[in-house]
Amino acid sequence: RIEPARRLTSLPEQFFAALVGKANARAATGRDVINLGQGNPDRPTPRTIVEKLKTASDNPLYHKYPPFRGFRFLKEAVAKRYKEDYNVDLDPDTEVAVLFGGKTGLVEISQCLLNPGDVCLVPDPGYPDYWSGVALAEAEMAFMPLLESNGFLPDYEAIPADKLARAKLMFLNYPNNPTAAVASRSFYEETVRFAEQNNVVVASDFAYGAIGYDGNRPVSFLETPGAKDVGIEFYTLSKSYNMAGWRVGFALGNKQIVEMLNLIQDHYYCSLFGGIQEAAAEALAGPQHSVAELVRVYESRRDALYDGLAAIGWHAPKPAGSFFCWLPVPQGFTSASFADKLLEEADIVVAPGIGFGEHGEGFVRLGLLAPEERLREVAERIGRLRIFG
Ligand code: PLP
Repeated sequence: RIEPARRLTSLPEQFFAALVGKANARAATGRDVINLGQGNPDRPTPRTIVEKLKTASDNPLYHKYPPFRGFRFLKEAVAKRYKEDYNVDLDPDTEVAVLFGGKTGLVEISQCLLNPGDVCLVPDPGYPDYWSGVALAEAEMAFMPLLESNGFLPDYEAIPADKLARAKLMFLNYPNNPTAAVASRSFYEETVRFAEQNNVVVASDFAYGAIGYDGNRPVSFLETPGAKDVGIEFYTLSKSYNMAGWRVGFALGNKQIVEMLNLIQDHYYCSLFGGIQEAAAEALAGPQHSVAELVRVYESRRDALYDGLAAIGWHAPKPAGSFFCWLPVPQGFTSASFADKLLEEADIVVAPGIGFGEHGEGFVRLGLLAPEERLREVAERIGRLRIFG
């Protein structure tokens, strides 16, 4: 019998792997399942980006090992995008790390900064991959409740003093998965002050940075004066360009942290396939109308779903950003029992809030990841269960 190391046994089960398994098992019985459970964009990557990969894959330079830490043209492209979109200056050589999707960096940053006994401040509810990195670093988590009454922002005053004294790292994620809340400039100003006073590094997960509704563009943490001194932002092409399968992400900002992440990546990955790097640079440097179009599509889907849900008596504030809907479960259900009911009686897959932490209980998360007519059907199917109203 082969014994795994302790750090491996402390890893939680990958939440979405379990969810996908359940959905697939249901679909395999021939049922017409509508899957709004996983955050996997349903629309294709824009054509120009795919075409760029096709031609780039013929370049013999890319058939060799790529340069450690990525091609400079890609780092320049992301730096230019940040200048244009957020008026943030980034040095491509020292303030940009190329990652295999945001996910690798979100896990590795804990290994860069935490020793056993250190504390990481983690939003609850929050994206479960933050927990995995902390577990692999054999460090501890202190959860920061995100309450609806506080706009799903953490209350720094409420962090217990003994945890704060040992805290080295904090995750933030706006537009937020799963609550769909966005952060304001003043919240980020408060965050920089908090980080300076308490010597905590801020890891801002900006995976949904492109997706804000009702004409509001989400703010980047790096726009805040002093942000680069205390933190880093994780940025990814997965959601904004429908490129989840391409695995392209970045860590941007603090030079020392960029160097630490690069060091870890040198050992694990070398870098991404050059053709993918060229196509990713095309996404960032080329025309951006596909991003505006994507936001329009999600906004119409959001409105179609919420109109449908309001008609059956299921009311909740509309999402401000991200492509998720965070909806309260009805009386008499837990998030898991309600998700099970929707799967078993309506063939709809949603993510139970408890999967995102204790304070996710009482909610389910629905992704706007099906065409409008399917989302209307979601509301109709749930209406037929006669639970609301
Ligand atoms: N951060 C959040 C909040 C996410 O929801 C996701 C993906 O679902 C990621 C990061 C990971 O993105 P990537 O595809 O860049 O690894």
